Amino acid sequence: MQSIDNFNFAGKKAFVRVDFNVPLDENFNITDDTRIRAALPTLKKILADGGSLIIGSHLGRPKGVTDKFSLKHILNHVSELLGVEVQFANDCIGEEAGVKAAALQPGEALLLENLRFYAEEEGKPRGLAEDATDEEKKAAKKAVKESQKEFVKRLASYADCYVNDAFGTAHRAHASTALIADYFDTDSKMFGYLMEKEVKAVDKVMKDIVRPFTAIMGGSKVSSKIEIIENLLNKVDNLIITGGMTYTFTKAQGGKIGKSICEDDKLDLALDLIQKAKDKGVNLVLAVDAKIADDFKNDANTAYADVNEIPDEWEGLDIGPKTMEIYSNVIKNSKTILWNGPTGVFEFDNFTAGSRAVGEAIVEATKNGAFSLVGGGDSVACVNKFGLADKVSYVSTGGGALLEAIEGKVLPGIAAVKGEPYK
Ligand code: AMP
Repeated sequence: MQSIDNFNFAGKKAFVRVDFNVPLDENFNITDDTRIRAALPTLKKILADGGSLIIGSHLGRPKGVTDKFSLKHILNHVSELLGVEVQFANDCIGEEAGVKAAALQPGEALLLENLRFYAEEEGKPRGLAEDATDEEKKAAKKAVKESQKEFVKRLASYADCYVNDAFGTAHRAHASTALIADYFDTDSKMFGYLMEKEVKAVDKVMKDIVRPFTAIMGGSKVSSKIEIIENLLNKVDNLIITGGMTYTFTKAQGGKIGKSICEDDKLDLALDLIQKAKDKGVNLVLAVDAKIADDFKNDANTAYADVNEIPDEWEGLDIGPKTMEIYSNVIKNSKTILWNGPTGVFEFDNFTAGSRAVGEAIVEATKNGAFSLVGGGDSVACVNKFGLADKVSYVSTGGGALLEAIEGKVLPGIAAVKGEPYK
């Protein structure tokens, strides 16, 4: 497939799908511009080559045209970061967009208005009455799929080549993230630099695995992580299941967990996962002790207890010191590490020690040559909170997209550029 480094954009117009879905405050100031900065290497390379940019993105989840979600709010900041005055088209498929795209000169850039102002971007009908019949729903879906073809064609018509740098939406088969790729030949579609890095990182934990491979899965609920855990059981040597999920496993094995978080309807599933790990020869590592609290708050009274001996009115809010040592030893002896989810309620400062210990063990393993990938909302927040983000191999920018990749699902945004099937 084509690569951005090998492609000369001189005299070419590139449609670049980015993820500029940044948080804005009530005055439309950007409160975190990480996502814009993440796309800059790609955008700058195209301009430096002498190409021009048609930048497409979504912002928020609008259900139609909404000022609140207009990309005009971020235009000045994009211009500042990019170092060129970016033009704006206030309707991504309007006449103005076509005229401005056609007039773009080498080194110039045009930002299109929020692609999700059109239902065709997501390909899902909008405005259906709540009591719509199945027939009506089906007809509306068919209609939007029909008009989606024109929408995609229009977007593709602006450009000579297509670059997808929006890993955050790679798990969606939307018009600008996947369908549009069909309108460009193999040599004229490619990943941007951010996407390339994400795809490589995912491949290192899903395909080109150097062993031993340890995955640390934390978080509150087993139910939200089942598919990931099941897929990882086919890949890893060590699986650390931690965080709130611990107590479902402890209770399933007959332990006393006090009022710790637990999914009582998932006890059988927990036992099933323990058996599956055994059958597959995976070393399943669970906590042996916990830092317990007499209330769900930062300044609750605390104590340490064996994980299966938690007194009635107490709950486990982090792992204890024995568990930290066990986890750390496993992690430090690994050559590939994936971390998703904290070991405890890391939002409370008194319950961060376990997550910090995991982060530090990962950093040490990385220093010793391991590849470490941290991804999925809360573990990214953890490494940022502990100042460890630049000491691991890679911190993924894609929450949902990364999780789906680890579940073993095909990501449409990636498959479409590679010319592989995804439907
Ligand atoms: P998730 O969104 O499923 O990845 O879970 C992350 C959340 O799990 C964080 O907000 C943590 O505070 C929470 N969590 C981790 N450990 C525990 C625990 N022992 N009890 C309650 N919540 C927890």
